[in-house]
Amino acid sequence: MNDVSDTRHLTAATREESAQARWARFKPIVTGQDYLDSLRGRNITCYLFGENVAEPVDHPVIRPSMNALKATYDLAVEDPEMATAHSPLINARVSRFLHIVESPQDLVKKNKMQRRMGQITGTCFQRCAGLDTISVLHSITFDIDAKHGTRYHQRYLAWLKLAQTNNIIVGAGMTDPKGDRSKRPHEQEDPDLFMHVVRRTEQGLYVRGAKAHMTGGLNSHWICVMPTMNLGEKDKDYAVVGMVPADAAGLTFIYGRQSCDTRALEKGTIDQGNATYGGQETLVIFDDVFIPWEHVLMDGEYEFAQEMVTRFTAYHRASYVCKTGLGDVMVGAAAAIAEYNGADGASHVKDKLVEMTHLNETIYSSGVASSHEATQLASGIFMNDAMLANVCKHNVTRFPYEISRLAQDLAGGLMVTLPSQDDFEHSVAGPLLEKYFKGRAEVPVEHRVRMLRLIENMTLGRNAVGYLTESMHGAGSPQAQRIQILRGMDVEKKKNYARKLAAIPVKVIS
Ligand code: SF4
Ligand code: FE
Repeated sequence: MNDVSDTRHLTAATREESAQARWARFKPIVTGQDYLDSLRGRNITCYLFGENVAEPVDHPVIRPSMNALKATYDLAVEDPEMATAHSPLINARVSRFLHIVESPQDLVKKNKMQRRMGQITGTCFQRCAGLDTISVLHSITFDIDAKHGTRYHQRYLAWLKLAQTNNIIVGAGMTDPKGDRSKRPHEQEDPDLFMHVVRRTEQGLYVRGAKAHMTGGLNSHWICVMPTMNLGEKDKDYAVVGMVPADAAGLTFIYGRQSCDTRALEKGTIDQGNATYGGQETLVIFDDVFIPWEHVLMDGEYEFAQEMVTRFTAYHRASYVCKTGLGDVMVGAAAAIAEYNGADGASHVKDKLVEMTHLNETIYSSGVASSHEATQLASGIFMNDAMLANVCKHNVTRFPYEISRLAQDLAGGLMVTLPSQDDFEHSVAGPLLEKYFKGRAEVPVEHRVRMLRLIENMTLGRNAVGYLTESMHGAGSPQAQRIQILRGMDVEKKKNYARKLAAIPVKVIS
């Protein structure tokens, strides 16, 4: 453990605000507007395009990502059956994004909500990794307590009650930068490449390091830091789980840019394709950030790190049914542009739409099957079937690419040769474009342009991050799922099925 005696540029008083003081300052959120209001004036350090952003809520590149989370609150108001659930913890209805899973049916309902949110936003709405973190902590804190006699589960439940009451967003701080992949955390030349505890006091502990690719990090109220992989005894100081307010002293956010993001800085909105919603990934640096003991949920129990990651991925890889909502938008956009082009009657067009739908529903079926097959853990919570969750996520690493290819096929090359909104509005160029980009007589040229820009946005532009690359690497890259599938596929048992039918003696499996 590295001892750090100073607290850098901040006073101890600023760093060590008590948990009670934190919650006391918070105004419970009900509506989407409440959520946006809750993000204002937090005085967060966030770099984007080489500048510290004064108020992220008003930044045109950042705001669409906040709108996507806002939509989760709006859905809870508009469709409480879908997006809320009764919490026995506080005996009230709470956001399904903060609800403890009480049955397989709860997980199926979560999947339906995720698909719906994907249809509404056409992007990553950033709230599921936090939900899956809450889910995994229920069982992991319980199991650590059972082994070590600690009190993590009670701390967790106390935090969750306040989280539900205040209807906050929690971000999942899991992925460490990892440095040299051939080395364990304690072997790294720079120990900060994995998050670790640098100091413990009577009040709490201090963590240093960074969390990368944090979905919706800046848009969260709290961040849960947790290990990213299995840990050994020498990595004990890296085995830390804690709840950190997103505006805690010592945090720095550096905003990840996305393809075509500067289109949000142009004066028109048409060329953005989806001007309202976007995703968000941030690098979050923790410079000796204080976590009071009541928010520490693991400290040194390294042997639970692997199991925590495994359970997290069982939940989170089934959460990727979110992409079927985006797939629904892609099918709709492809069908609409074919119609605007006057090609919707062609049999090959219908066949491509069938293929897109088949791929999309295949993702969905593996995700909901994983939820239906959920089993109960010792703490009482239910967890997705891990094999089917991995199959779901693995499908997600592939099928959205093929769905996008087919959408681009149906869109035609105009999608990438279209002039800008400024040209369409120009006194000379505009009428020429109106004349030569006319498709079906009854369809305004602007509608054709908007639909093409949406397909561009989701397959090449800003929300291709959410639909394609995040589908590839979010919740673990394809190889991570193949490792889990290999572990779970039980080939020896299957060999015996074959041996039996072939009248060969079966082998005893220990
Ligand atoms: Fe939710 Fe999907 Fe975004 Fe993950 S990728 S946070 S599951 S919307
Ligand atoms: Fe993700």
